[in-house]
Amino acid sequence: MIHTFDEELKSLFGRKVWKLTLDAGRTCPNRDGTCGTGGCAFCAGGGRFAAAGDEPDEQLARARAVLGPKADGAGFLAYFQSGTNTYAPVDELRRSFWGVLARPEILGLCIGTRPDCLPDGVLALLEELARVKPVWVELGLQTASDEAAAAFGRGYATEVFDRAMEALAGTGVRRVVHVIAGLPDEPEDGALQTAAHAARFRPEGIKFHVLNVLRGTPMEERFRRGEVPVMSRERYVALVCDCIRRLPPETAIHRLTGDGDKRLLIAPAWAADKKRVLNAFAAALADVRQGEAWKGESAG
Ligand code: SF4
Repeated sequence: MIHTFDEELKSLFGRKVWKLTLDAGRTCPNRDGTCGTGGCAFCAGGGRFAAAGDEPDEQLARARAVLGPKADGAGFLAYFQSGTNTYAPVDELRRSFWGVLARPEILGLCIGTRPDCLPDGVLALLEELARVKPVWVELGLQTASDEAAAAFGRGYATEVFDRAMEALAGTGVRRVVHVIAGLPDEPEDGALQTAAHAARFRPEGIKFHVLNVLRGTPMEERFRRGEVPVMSRERYVALVCDCIRRLPPETAIHRLTGDGDKRLLIAPAWAADKKRVLNAFAAALADVRQGEAWKGESAG
C-alpha cells in the first residue's frame, strides 16, 4: 500500500491529469559559475522531454499534441523541468509562471529547482501562485550525505535543503524531494538515510531514481575508472521499497524510476527498460506498507 501521485491528482481534480513539460530556457547556478561551472557530475544538462520553443503557448500546444486523443477531456499540469526554474529575477518568474497558470486547462504547476534558489521574493511568489492553483516545487536533494554531494559537485550543503523545506512548509506549496540511489561515495544503502532525512520534513512528495551514468558527463569518466558501482535492478527495487517504508504515509510517491535519456545511458543498462522496472516494483510493493518503518520524527 503506497500513496501515489496519481491518487493525489485524482482526489484533487477528479479526472486524469497529464504533465506538459516546458523549457523556459533557464540555466543553473551550478553551470553559470555562481556555485560551479561543470554541473552535477551525473547531469547531462537539459530535460529530454522539455518541449523546447520560444513561447510557452507554443510549447504547451506541442506537448499537448504529442499526447493525442488519449488526453481528450483531461487536465494538465505545466512542468518547468529543465535547469533551475526559480533562478531568475522575480519579475521574470512572475510573468512566466502566471502566464502559464492563467490558462484554464492548466490545473497547476510543477517547478524543478534547487533549494539554494529560493530567496524570500521567490517564496512569496510561489505562495501567491499556490493560493490560486496547486504548485509542486521539486528540490534536487539527491543525497543527505554532504560528502557524497560534494563528490558529485552539488554545490550546496544539506542544511540549505533543510532550511528550504522549513521555509516552504506552511506556504501551501507542495514540496517534492528528488532522491538518487546508487551514488558513489556513500554506502550502498545511502538512499535510506536520504529518505529518512527527507521524511523528517514530512514532504508532500518524493521522486526516486537510480544513478544513471550518462555519456559525456564527469560521472562517465569515474565509471570508466571503475569508481562507480552499478546497482542491480533487484537491489534498487528492494532499496526503494525500504525507503517507502520509512516515509510518512501521506507523502505522495511521484516516481519510482527515472526517464533517463536512453541515447546517453551507459549504466545501468536495465534502467532503459522502464516497463520492466515498474513490473518489478508492482510485485515488490505488494508486501510494502508505506510508513510501516516511519518513526514519526519531525525536523526542528
Ligand atoms: S542536476 Fe540540476 S542542479 Fe545539478 S547541474 Fe543539472 S540542472 Fe544544475
